[in-house]
Amino acid sequence: MLAVMYHEGLQEYDFGPGHPLQGNRFRIFPEFLKKTLPEDGNYRFFPGEAVGDEDLRLICTQEYIDFTREYFRAAHAGLTVSQSRFGRYHSMDNLPQGRPGKLEEAARLIIGLEKRACELVMAGEYPGALCFGGLHHAKPGYGEGFCIYNDVAFTAKHLLEKYGLERVLVLDTDAHAGNGTAEYFYESDRVLLIDIHQDPRTLYPGTGFASELGRGPGLGYTVNIPVPPGAGDRSYELVFDELIEPVVWKFQPQIIVRNGGSDPHFADDLTGLGLTVAGFNMIGRKVRKLAEVCAGRHIDILGSGYNLEVLPYAWMSLVAGIADFKVDVRPPFEEAASDRAVAHTEKVVEEVKKNLRKIGKYFA
Ligand SMILES: [Zn+2]
Repeated sequence: MLAVMYHEGLQEYDFGPGHPLQGNRFRIFPEFLKKTLPEDGNYRFFPGEAVGDEDLRLICTQEYIDFTREYFRAAHAGLTVSQSRFGRYHSMDNLPQGRPGKLEEAARLIIGLEKRACELVMAGEYPGALCFGGLHHAKPGYGEGFCIYNDVAFTAKHLLEKYGLERVLVLDTDAHAGNGTAEYFYESDRVLLIDIHQDPRTLYPGTGFASELGRGPGLGYTVNIPVPPGAGDRSYELVFDELIEPVVWKFQPQIIVRNGGSDPHFADDLTGLGLTVAGFNMIGRKVRKLAEVCAGRHIDILGSGYNLEVLPYAWMSLVAGIADFKVDVRPPFEEAASDRAVAHTEKVVEEVKKNLRKIGKYFA
């Protein structure tokens, strides 16, 4: 059984008409889930509430919260807002277009639902929970990449602070490197961030190189796996078998927080990777297997994906793998399954292993 954390207010996470991030994904997917698989015996929907400033302060400065709240609330209300201070707190890709949704409230709701997910999973009521958000580019005092409050970082920090966990694995499978999340935990040995993403020389945010391994006590607790453009199912399988699985086995996490949506799909409009819908299912099954080290405990966070035709199939396929749903997710569109980047990916895997060996981590 999977707990699905959902509130229709999530749809308000919408930067306005013409912006690549629209809130309709948070309506499309739950509808697709209900249509594809009956709730009984498979999953159950849970509501949640938006968090207040006190919770947000776990991941943000009050100054940043104040600006972000005022700015996005005014933009939603249709008020003319001065953009003069915007650049101090946000990059221009976070600038709403036209009338955005109640985006700031929705970002608080994303975190509130994840907080509730932590409660359910830590109480042992559900082994796993599915959440929506994954705003992994946001930093303590700066929003970017369509992200205002980093809910992935919140979830991991909340698990450390409220539940006293010592070892949390954050597995970021989004096509883009989670530069925000990395910044939060770069010096921590309590959160292992494994981040598989498209080579930063070819994609925003331009960080997440194999040489970035953490600092101080956090050295070896950031593992970046920058795969080449075109990397598809076989490349990802290789990365999981050769790198992720042995590293996770050594780290022995007490819970897995996975984030990332469908933007590594080959038909995504913003990225250049090569996964198929079946590849997402493979990733889901790998995560399910990894979670055996922590009694199945996991929190899964979906959010990205800029081809809305692909999005529900890829998300569903991933979730079906993680939750072991007996459902065959077949997309109505043609998929090219070839992966021409395998040889290149093998080299990346070797490089990452070499770097980790050098600092005496995970590989002998
Ligand atoms: Zn992304």
